Amino acid sequence: MDAPRAAFAPLGLLAELTHRCPLGCPYCSNPLELDKRSDELDTATWARVFAEAAGLGVLQVHLSGGEPAARRDLPEIIAAARDAGLYSNLITSAVGLTSEGLTRLADAGLDHVQVSIQDSDAASADLIAGYSGAFARKRALAADVVNLGLPLTVNVVVHRANIDRIGSMVEQALALGASRVEIAHVQYYGWALKNRAALMPSRQQVDTALIAVERLRQSHCGDIVIDAVVPDYYARYPKPCVGGWGRRSLNVTPSGRVLPCHAAEVIPGLEFWNVRDRSLSEIWHGSPAFMAFRGTDWMQEPCRSCALKGKDFGGCRCQAFLIAGDARLADPVCHLSPHHDALEKLAAIRDDSTYHYRKF
Ligand code: SF4
Ligand code: SF4
Repeated sequence: MDAPRAAFAPLGLLAELTHRCPLGCPYCSNPLELDKRSDELDTATWARVFAEAAGLGVLQVHLSGGEPAARRDLPEIIAAARDAGLYSNLITSAVGLTSEGLTRLADAGLDHVQVSIQDSDAASADLIAGYSGAFARKRALAADVVNLGLPLTVNVVVHRANIDRIGSMVEQALALGASRVEIAHVQYYGWALKNRAALMPSRQQVDTALIAVERLRQSHCGDIVIDAVVPDYYARYPKPCVGGWGRRSLNVTPSGRVLPCHAAEVIPGLEFWNVRDRSLSEIWHGSPAFMAFRGTDWMQEPCRSCALKGKDFGGCRCQAFLIAGDARLADPVCHLSPHHDALEKLAAIRDDSTYHYRKF
């Protein structure tokens, strides 16, 4: 190993409580093969996982899915996170979560809510979500969050159909009372990869959006925090995906598999250990999937001799596999990758015919 063990200490846990979700977003990062309800971890196992995560040094748990409110035991799960001393963030579509239900979650100790919005235009938002009335429900839940005094983050996933309305989506987040808005470009895994030709914005759209974000940051400085990153396919350097493989975070799937990132299962041949069989500590320190790309020893050229390898860790392993065909290669987002041109060709493919909606 090329770094001391202490360099690999998780801070965040993404708990995918269920893959069930009433929405059908074509950019959903859930895998095409979704975990069945009958395979989901029970409340007691989640409570054990949270306690073990806290023991490893995890500070925050992101309760995600699917739609986490599809779990009837969500108040008990949140109480377990509180008892473990974790800061809990609920990532919700807002559909299927009532005002009364949200109050129960707040009473159980919920610390923060993140609501995703699909667009600032109601008809477009419902079309993207594949769910009539989703837009109105999100607005109502966001108001409930603020009324309860919980901090609210609005998450906006941008793509070809809504990227030209970034300004109005930020205005909407402000009007809803959010203290933070996250502008996240679609990541092309899972259902999003299947819909890539329908979702990919043009370079011109992306350039215009980046200028718009800078103007919004200036005009709303002090009112709202705007987080935004350059989308992968139009970047010159990759991001340090999940802060580096097996370095700062871990994912637990609805049925208990522990992943270094939510898309890691696209890489063939990786062995994922399960919290039903082992402790989280044993998995974090010894799982073959975590060891495969932890640190920098596994790197090949051009990453191996690159001065940036300790900063971006060679980018995303899943993208290296999906585009370049080998997870040990540099992320093709990097302009030094011999596969970088392939990204431009893929970004140019357009298909406006239809979305393949995510189905449970
Ligand atoms: S991206 Fe859409 S379909 Fe996927 S879990 Fe979130 S709300 Fe549900
Ligand atoms: S060569 Fe590898 S380490 Fe260097 S910038 Fe590109 S992806 Fe990052």
